[in-house]
Amino acid sequence: MQFIDIHTHTSSIQKDVFSIENKYPNSTDFSKPFSIGIHPWYISENSLQNDLKIVKEQLNSEKCYALGECGLDKITEIDFSLQLEVFKQQIQLSEKHNKPIIIHCVKAFQEIIQLKKEIKPKQPWIVHGFNKNHQIALDLIRHQICISFGESLLINERLQETFSKLPLDFLFLETDTSEKHIENIYNIASELRKTEKKEIINTVKQNFSRIFKR
Ligand SMILES: [Zn+2]
Repeated sequence: MQFIDIHTHTSSIQKDVFSIENKYPNSTDFSKPFSIGIHPWYISENSLQNDLKIVKEQLNSEKCYALGECGLDKITEIDFSLQLEVFKQQIQLSEKHNKPIIIHCVKAFQEIIQLKKEIKPKQPWIVHGFNKNHQIALDLIRHQICISFGESLLINERLQETFSKLPLDFLFLETDTSEKHIENIYNIASELRKTEKKEIINTVKQNFSRIFKR
């Protein structure tokens, strides 16, 4: 039995868990499966070219499963048009290197969907840490964008309600910055769907092989 954790910031290896660890251009250890990208909070015009260069280099690694997290955030102070530009550059990299994108999105879901429609990328997009309403979830799924749920699923009742009714073929689960074991997220997922945990495990595994082609 193996739990897939699509997005974590923790580097410890856990039994029965396959995880994709989020890395930044200034990370040093790339020995375990990882994703790498320029997070909208940490865009710096001074280091942008160098950061992009590092992301490009690391995308060639077999251990690199995805580009990201990267994306759009309307709450951070980083200029939004700069965020857009850097996100678009990373979308191009994901296409060029055939790696899916893990997306950080705060109050910019319509922009993400609009970009998806304009660019028509071949690579899958995954919005991580989803904690919004049912309508946004359905909009994302309708545009073939995957959704990853994390710790909020344990506490946010409205999100639980949303989760209980969604189609599951675009589903992923994650721990992100949480210190909880990923199994907690699988437990709540199976409880909310009124199905056995192994069903959720299998669903996520199938989605993983389809999306990541591994
Ligand atoms: Zn994260």
